[in-house]
Amino acid sequence: MEKPAGHHSHPHPHHPHPHNHVVDGPTSRRDFLRVLMGGALAGASILDLAWHRAAWARSAAPTSEPNLFDIQKVANGIYFARAHPQAMLNCNAAIFVRSKDVVVVDAHARPSAAASLIGQIKREVTTKPVRYVINTHFHADHTQGDPAYRLTGQKVDFIASAATGKLLESLAVVRMKAEVATVPQQIDALRDQAAHAKSAAEKAFCADQVRQLQAYQAELKDYTPVLPTITFDKSYLLQDAAYDLHIEFHGHAHTAGDVVVYCPQARAVATGDVIHGFLPNIADGFPRLWPAAIDSIGGADFNTIIPGHAALQTGRTQMVNLRNYIEELTGRVEESRKAGLSLAEMQQRITVASLKSLHSNGYEEYLARMSALSHSRFSKVPPLQSGVNANIADVYGNIDRT
Ligand SMILES: [Zn+2]
Ligand SMILES: [Zn+2]
Repeated sequence: MEKPAGHHSHPHPHHPHPHNHVVDGPTSRRDFLRVLMGGALAGASILDLAWHRAAWARSAAPTSEPNLFDIQKVANGIYFARAHPQAMLNCNAAIFVRSKDVVVVDAHARPSAAASLIGQIKREVTTKPVRYVINTHFHADHTQGDPAYRLTGQKVDFIASAATGKLLESLAVVRMKAEVATVPQQIDALRDQAAHAKSAAEKAFCADQVRQLQAYQAELKDYTPVLPTITFDKSYLLQDAAYDLHIEFHGHAHTAGDVVVYCPQARAVATGDVIHGFLPNIADGFPRLWPAAIDSIGGADFNTIIPGHAALQTGRTQMVNLRNYIEELTGRVEESRKAGLSLAEMQQRITVASLKSLHSNGYEEYLARMSALSHSRFSKVPPLQSGVNANIADVYGNIDRT
């Protein structure tokens, strides 16, 4: 998982499963168990296996199943899967259905979450096999689900930039271990919250969060990252009778290896964490270069942005808001550094009220809406200033990266 700022300043958006989907038609028990038992969970997560079995039992009953995603149609053959809030943050996915197969962009925080999406795609979108998984960047909430695709028994290629391949090789395991090491502390905090809970519903929420964290811990115990099988430096083209997908690197931004997936025929682009509706995460970022990368992406003709987090975006307003915020914040930190201010002084002076970009085009309100979307009524939504402070610290630390 990514560390401090933006959506990662509160990486545990507590939320139960609020969207109960009515399942259309009978679910194939064999398919469901094949996905789950195919190895994605085998031996790694007894808790989650039990939970998914229970989920299957509920879905097979004529009622509902707690899906982990909301899948909505973007254009012909193109879908957006918005991740429900979970104890460990999952990214959204873009789903591209082609003539004979499917391309999925990004793979969430754990194999069982990807297995869950694979099941939902089968039930709600298409029975065609997933042939390609594109990882927009190396962060855990976009890559740790990769093994689930390999275990479907279909031939799957994993596509990423060469830079992302290198980052996965050097950092995936180290980062995963560091993240897993924070779990006991999170569980303690939830048990404390449960002890002071004001309702049975809040208590149940805490218990469910603890269950998710324990399952995550167990599942990641024997985790081995999947390295990309196809890498490239600048761009890679997937052609099909249905439409083309241009996988493109536009420069250093959220990480050293971010790519976007652009479909000219649908005028849609999947952007990972370079463009999304939370505050940016700049912990591995390039503050001086990121706005130029967004400008370069914006040179293409599109009207729909499928982001790595928060809601689907129509038009470019929020893309421009994010771009201007990063540019303004970087400028402010730069000035402050020249004036000899310490980081703590910067965090005192660069306030939400003083940042023009937050007050243009409804950006502050939009961020509040997106933040609310990722929190339940039982979890505290952190004030915007705490996210801004994390961004200031990351810009301060990374300002000279090129
Ligand atoms: Zn990221
Ligand atoms: Zn992310």
